[in-house]
Amino acid sequence: MQNPRYRELAQSLFTKSNYLARAQHCIDTNTLLISQVAEVAAASFGVSAPEQRAEWAACDAVSAEKVVSTLRQAVREWSAEGAAEREVCYGRVIAEICRLFPDVYDVDNVAASGSQGALRPRNSVRIVIPGCGLGRLPLELALRGFAAQGNEFSFHMLFMSNYMLNCTLRPQEFAIYPYVHSQSHQRSRDLQLRAIRVPDVHPGQLMAYRDQHYPDSPSGELSMVLGSFDDIYLKQDATTNNSENEQGQFETADVVATVFFIDTAPNIFRTLEAIAGLLEPGGYWINFGPLLWHYEDVQQGEDNDVEAGDNDDEDRTRGLELTLEELLELIPKYGFAIEKHESSIPCTYTMDEASMGGFVYKCEFWVARKL
Ligand code: SAH
Repeated sequence: MQNPRYRELAQSLFTKSNYLARAQHCIDTNTLLISQVAEVAAASFGVSAPEQRAEWAACDAVSAEKVVSTLRQAVREWSAEGAAEREVCYGRVIAEICRLFPDVYDVDNVAASGSQGALRPRNSVRIVIPGCGLGRLPLELALRGFAAQGNEFSFHMLFMSNYMLNCTLRPQEFAIYPYVHSQSHQRSRDLQLRAIRVPDVHPGQLMAYRDQHYPDSPSGELSMVLGSFDDIYLKQDATTNNSENEQGQFETADVVATVFFIDTAPNIFRTLEAIAGLLEPGGYWINFGPLLWHYEDVQQGEDNDVEAGDNDDEDRTRGLELTLEELLELIPKYGFAIEKHESSIPCTYTMDEASMGGFVYKCEFWVARKL
């Protein structure tokens, strides 16, 4: 800053709150977790030794931004602070799945559910969760005894979810400072620079606890499939010999649970086809989310979000962002009957509760049955 008067004023403010030194500490502390996530990820790709980090590809601005949004996603999925936000969306989806498939090893649960369907052990119920972010929803479903399969195509999400699910040692292990890079709507430096602890739960401990305390009820299963949902699960021509089962992905599912996902589709027709094709007759598509069409503002050819995926520009339906009314009209054409539908449910996404700003979506929730 050139003007000495302005500089003096800024300095006096920042000296009082020790802003710059504290911000540096926050960034350094974030680096502890991020570096470990990166090292585990690099090792799994056969890129060795942190000492050789200088040879790793440099981080560009887009990647840096994704790291910041991954930290905010960690708050949503893996902190106590994110619990209320999770409850509105994941909570609804979990409750519905548990109602549809009561725990057959728990007589009270079966009776209370009033289940009309055939009773079956939950670990035979296959649930696919496309665009599962950092994997919390698949974990919660596995803890309730289901065979849950997450799917995700963003490497940033996959690396962090792998770390949270498989590499943390205990609850509250890491302090992160997810808001250090958010300059707007801050009420104070203390709030901007506050620590959030992750993970709020330790997945391994929870699984072990469940197995120990409910020995009669078979364990759930958790798997993760990397790649673009449509490309992986869309039923291919039976004559083509594709490598569909390489990652152990389910060929069919009893439930597909989409949370804040369908509007990420580059081609909604194709996504609906993939969901419908994956479900067994009588299976359920459970959806929660808004319609923030992800590709509305992405120009053809410039697409940073397609990472592990292999989406074809040609196939984009940009400019064909459907309204809710249109989408609801389309769903039965893919062989679904909507059995339950709630509208305009207020829900935030990675919102900092303490900040002065924030966006509240009015989400749709539906349960559609594959006929
Ligand atoms: N379900 C999570 C994340 C929602 S954001 C939650 O509710 O918090 C949408 C997620 O879908 C992102 O993580 C994005 O990387 C992922 N995604 C977008 N398109 C995808 C595709 N074609 N296949 C798999 N994942 C996809």
